[in-house]
Amino acid sequence: MAVFCRDVMEAVEKIAPRELAEKWDNVGLLVGNPAEKVEKIIVALDVTPEVVEEALQEGAHMIVSHHPLIFKPLTHVRADTPMGDMLFKLIKNNVKVYAAHTNLDNYEWGTNYFLAQKLGLEETEILKPAEEGLYKIVVFVPRGYEDRVRDAMGDAGAGWIGNYSHCSFMAPGTGTFKPLEGADPFIGSKGKLEKVEELRLETIVPESLRNKVIRAMLNAHPYEEVAYDVYRLENNGSGNGLGRIGYLKEEMSLYDFGEKVKRDLGIKHVKLAGPLKKAVRKVAVCGGAGTSAMAAAKKKGAEVFVSGDIKYHEALEAWQEGLALVDAGHYATEWAVVPALAEYLRKEFNGTEQKVQIMVSQVKTDPWEVI
Ligand SMILES: [Zn+2]
Repeated sequence: MAVFCRDVMEAVEKIAPRELAEKWDNVGLLVGNPAEKVEKIIVALDVTPEVVEEALQEGAHMIVSHHPLIFKPLTHVRADTPMGDMLFKLIKNNVKVYAAHTNLDNYEWGTNYFLAQKLGLEETEILKPAEEGLYKIVVFVPRGYEDRVRDAMGDAGAGWIGNYSHCSFMAPGTGTFKPLEGADPFIGSKGKLEKVEELRLETIVPESLRNKVIRAMLNAHPYEEVAYDVYRLENNGSGNGLGRIGYLKEEMSLYDFGEKVKRDLGIKHVKLAGPLKKAVRKVAVCGGAGTSAMAAAKKKGAEVFVSGDIKYHEALEAWQEGLALVDAGHYATEWAVVPALAEYLRKEFNGTEQKVQIMVSQVKTDPWEVI
């Protein structure tokens, strides 16, 4: 069975639901037709002219990137500008471009999970939990269909609590209904009051997956008119959010930690702010331009914060507040998510019948060179 562009979109959105993207962001399919076949995908951090060239050379049909190719509104598409030239080439050669940006950053197992993993942090948790609502969905299902409906909802992301999936509760009861003129009832006949043994099936879902779970539930349910309720909960904790905080196996000096970050991320240089002899063990990370999570790092008692693109005055302030900083650059603090995303897609399309080749871009798109 062939893989279509929309299958790839759906697979990425399982781990980077679009609802998790920041309001200012521009994620999703940016170029191309979702209904077209895809046999080769390149996963990259950025879409640059070199990455487009690589995609053409490799005969790729789709680029999945972290940073969106189109971010600011376009006022023209001219072939004599770098952006216009890329768009012409992509469209002429049927190369689709898809971006998973802040929605991947804000996912529980997204960008910062992989950065924390690279740095060997243990017992990590989300640094700045998403202000995402939690919902309870209650649906009434005729006996015999409860597994089908529960599984469809669970597969779509309902009932995920900590390390458990498909969490739900069921209780039996009696449902009543009278099919009226024009109805095509699954059970019973027109004009006659029916009593049916039903199960009340309830589960929870984060806001970002609510509509998807409701769609999956309606598709799996045998009734024409499904009785279901959606409640907004006061409980917190969708599990998603920005950054990670955790512990190094052993305490070390800020200087030694800086050396470790260089080794772990494979880079030649980092910038440190803070007393170099300061002992650090509790580490917060937020890859890319991650200083929006700096206050959360301070509040949660991190001894050092690892990010990229940290500005002079932000560094001064952190120093004064006793939070040490490691600026390892935007590119290096985000790169780990690229091979991880490629690996995830490989697993998703690993079925014997689905054939798609997934490669990691070999272009180093970091514009900075350290000399
Ligand atoms: Zn970034």
